[in-house]
Amino acid sequence: MDLTYTAEEEQFRQELRTWLAENIPTEWTVPGYWATLSDEESFEKRREWEARKTAAGFSGIQWPVEYGGRGGTPAMKAIYDEETVRAHAPQTVNVLGLTFLAPTIMAIGTEEQKAEIIGPMLRNEVIWCQGFSEPGAGSDLAAVATRGVLDGDEYVVNGQKIWTTNAMHGDKIFTIVRTEAGSEKHKGLSMLLIDMDQPGVEARPLKQMSGASEFGEVFFTDARVPAKDCLGEIGQGWRTAMLLLSFERGASGVGQYTEFRRQYDEIVAEAKRFGRAEDPVARQELARCLVELECLRYHAMHILTQVEQGRDLGSESSMTKLQWSEAFQDLWEAFEHVLGPEATLSAPRPDVDLSPFHAQDHWSRSVTIWGGSSQVQRNIVAERVLGLPR
Ligand SMILES: Cc1cc2nc3c(=O)[nH]c(=O)nc-3n(C[C@H](O)[C@H](O)[C@H](O)COP(=O)(O)OP(=O)(O)OC[C@H]3O[C@@H](n4cnc5c(N)ncnc54)[C@H](O)[C@@H]3O)c2cc1C
Repeated sequence: MDLTYTAEEEQFRQELRTWLAENIPTEWTVPGYWATLSDEESFEKRREWEARKTAAGFSGIQWPVEYGGRGGTPAMKAIYDEETVRAHAPQTVNVLGLTFLAPTIMAIGTEEQKAEIIGPMLRNEVIWCQGFSEPGAGSDLAAVATRGVLDGDEYVVNGQKIWTTNAMHGDKIFTIVRTEAGSEKHKGLSMLLIDMDQPGVEARPLKQMSGASEFGEVFFTDARVPAKDCLGEIGQGWRTAMLLLSFERGASGVGQYTEFRRQYDEIVAEAKRFGRAEDPVARQELARCLVELECLRYHAMHILTQVEQGRDLGSESSMTKLQWSEAFQDLWEAFEHVLGPEATLSAPRPDVDLSPFHAQDHWSRSVTIWGGSSQVQRNIVAERVLGLPR
């Protein structure tokens, strides 16, 4: 494992750092700034930011130049993640499209799909949602019941999706749909790319415990999708879905570490302010979190090295998911323990506003669920890494 970056990569870091310093509004660097905005305000500001960043050549760092990317190395993407987090830049609004769908289209899309979808996605003109989960099919993705029936050269889609991130802002949704009547489990499924702006698609927000509605339910009632908007072969949706999900792997751990470490420092500052920094139990808790975060950092560097060397991470990505999600959750549990009962009040003292901390604390509860729950990740590690029986 080589922990140094090349001269070209360091030059990229400087270029990006300078651009970020000149373009990030000062108020964004105030902790918890984004939590003070409504869903709409936050979304629009982030969308506008993305467009500016793309115009400056700082999007699609690892994408080939022919698709509008920068043709960079995995290390450059890691530098990008690190520097954008450091500069308090917001996360992309088109995360599902950019992370999952774009590389899948580059790998198996038709020439028409490549030409029509990738550019507008990169410029955030078209926001993508992921329609995999259903009320009866979350971890068990093969249980999807949404149906697609061929009618001329269009599929007619009926069914329901749930927990759809960006449901209220989405322009298009990539879905897993049962296109072979009577088929079971992973057979007879197709990945359809559906236009959400049509009468047969209704998105309803779901209220989270934080008060926000980052996700919602999507109902399809005779929604129509041209047959050419199937990604991968018809009936091979399971294979397409597995390829798409494999793009969750990668080098983003470096950025995650940087973000979590900043939050850790903020929690330590609050512990001092609340006079809890001398408490031996609180100190032990914070020390344990720091050790966990440093393990995450070295794991992220290990993964980055693997990706740089072109190795397939395989089931190791489940270990990564477990590690970062549980380290993040432990960090926010430490916040609750260290601050004690006062952690539950958004304004425990006249000069203290803990609401931005609460937003992170609430969000941390979800990370061991989405992208594959911890229990399911542990099953994968048990069976495929350790070779234990089912
Ligand atoms: C913030 C957030 C955003 C999301 N965004 C999206 C999105 O954009 N698009 C989308 O399609 N989905 C999205 N999801 C849904 C997410 O992928 C599912 O919640 C997840 O896959 C779990 O499915 P489920 O909720 O149906 O729970 P279930 O699958 O019903 O699981 C319930 C419990 O049983 C456990 N369990 C299930 N099967 C097993 C097993 N075989 N072995 C051991 N334990 C098991 C699970 O770990 C869990 O604890 C999002 C979820 C959240 C929380």
